[in-house]
Amino acid sequence: MRQPRINVENKEALFEALVQENQETESDYAQCPCGRLIRSPREYGIFLFNIREHEINILCPNEGCHLGELGRIRFTTKGRSWSVEEASFNSFFVFWNSDRLGEERTKALLESHLKSVINGIDWLSVMDRLEISR
Ligand SMILES: [Zn+2]
Repeated sequence: MRQPRINVENKEALFEALVQENQETESDYAQCPCGRLIRSPREYGIFLFNIREHEINILCPNEGCHLGELGRIRFTTKGRSWSVEEASFNSFFVFWNSDRLGEERTKALLESHLKSVINGIDWLSVMDRLEISR
């Protein structure tokens, strides 16, 4: 059996497709101004910073990051239930990504990151921490 011939034209098309794929992947990432790419919302550090104020901080996954906090979530509790009052990323983080990805893409990307972060929080253990500190 003869091997199918690979012509140059196809190779170039393949290469172009690969390059495009890489660019698309890159735009799926958020980035901290420290340079750290955040490929998945699971990478953020989550820190129950201020128990009294019911505030959770969203931290850069780079432990050596000089910025540290990239956003925060404020919540209220009633008995064993909770609701998120406000969740946002800090403006420097939003602007940094807008410069890289454009405003619209950044908005969609960071909104989905915020949702995932909120859904990924172990709220029951947060409740436990609140009760212990009471
Ligand atoms: Zn950072």
